[in-house]
Amino acid sequence: MTLPRSSYRAVVVGGGIIGLYTAYDLARAGAGPILVLERGFLSSGASGRNGGGVRQQWETRGTIRLARESVEAYRRFGRDFGYNLWFRQSGYLFLAESEVELARLRTVHDVVTAEGLPARLLDAGGVAELVPGLAPGAAIGGSYLASDGVLYPFPAVWGVYEAARSLGVDVALGVEALGLRVEGTRVTGLVTSEGAVATTTVVNAAGGWSGEFSRRAGLEVPNVATRHEILATESLKPFLDPMVVRASDGLYFSQTMRGEIVGGRTVGHAPGVGPGVPSSPGFLTGMARALTGLLPRLGSVRVLRAWSGYYDDTPDGFPVIGEDPRLPGFVHANGFGGHGFMLAPAAGRRVARAVLGEPTELDPAVFGPGRFLVARRDAPAERLGLG
Ligand SMILES: Cc1cc2nc3c(=O)[nH]c(=O)nc-3n(C[C@H](O)[C@H](O)[C@H](O)COP(=O)(O)OP(=O)(O)OC[C@H]3O[C@@H](n4cnc5c(N)ncnc54)[C@H](O)[C@@H]3O)c2cc1C
Repeated sequence: MTLPRSSYRAVVVGGGIIGLYTAYDLARAGAGPILVLERGFLSSGASGRNGGGVRQQWETRGTIRLARESVEAYRRFGRDFGYNLWFRQSGYLFLAESEVELARLRTVHDVVTAEGLPARLLDAGGVAELVPGLAPGAAIGGSYLASDGVLYPFPAVWGVYEAARSLGVDVALGVEALGLRVEGTRVTGLVTSEGAVATTTVVNAAGGWSGEFSRRAGLEVPNVATRHEILATESLKPFLDPMVVRASDGLYFSQTMRGEIVGGRTVGHAPGVGPGVPSSPGFLTGMARALTGLLPRLGSVRVLRAWSGYYDDTPDGFPVIGEDPRLPGFVHANGFGGHGFMLAPAAGRRVARAVLGEPTELDPAVFGPGRFLVARRDAPAERLGLG
């Protein structure tokens, strides 16, 4: 496709949920012409390949606040965007198998409740009530928050895409961002597979490929892409309300409104982006063993499909939001690991503010790209990157 204009106020690289929310918020702020470049199709990245989990139970206040704001936004999504996400606030339950894991969940619980969210610590009986058919002795306790939940990612991507376009954002599908144009030390444009465009701001929202794109811009970043697998079973009569996550191995699963069990494990393949996003027999057998060990009733259930997608991980578990101090005009909106969907509405808003030079209300030592450029002792970290 030919690009509609030769000059834009900002160009967003990546048409996943983060890039689209950013573009939408920029357009709502009246920022001027905005272009989103997506080299694949809508939802071809992680935004069309995830488990739809939305939780506010985190280890750090910074993440909890972004998640909480995003939950509010997803609750309003139908009214704001005219699409039904089937957002079901039926809770997230973290299971502990040992006293050490339970102590960790207790710490999380303290931070979450200090933020005003009514998370509950459960004993083995409380867990068994929430997960009918749980194998005896499978958990000694857990942490539960009823306002966490699950949604369908596709209407979210589509709704924000339609809303951004209705506000005048150009979304170019099948067009790749190849590299930057820089004059002096500032961004002046972008070279794409459809020619060059002039712009003073480029937003790197390229998900698992954000490291690759930053490096194309001449910037060394610590982002690492890791492929993760996930599956969906045939539909079962509804029996499970919460998303269940096991602390020891990151097993996570929920039952969708169609009755399927959808889940995976938070263990990725070797770092790096390869060609394609395949599924492996090893994942299927490992997942089957983990699921049926926990819930023996799933022993005869058939898997309907399996797929995979890329996490974009950072060393400290926080996303990267803000302008790169080494290159004015280059704004990061990446590093969301396995939880970008649940942070997207709040994160997109912050990225848009960063583009406009407005305060983001984010601590740069926690979320800013400059944090990786200085040696730090006792740097904060978000380690609850499970499920
Ligand atoms: C198996 C799995 C399960 C997950 N489960 C959850 C969950 O339950 N809850 C949750 O919140 N999150 C989950 N996640 C994570 C979540 O999906 C991601 O964090 C989120 O979708 C990231 O959105 P994004 O827009 O940053 O990236 P993406 O959706 O990956 O979008 C980036 C886009 O950039 C495009 N692109 C890359 N390079 C270029 C270029 N040079 N030019 C043009 N376009 C380019 C890609 O084609 C891609 O479409 C999961 C992820 C996976 C893989």
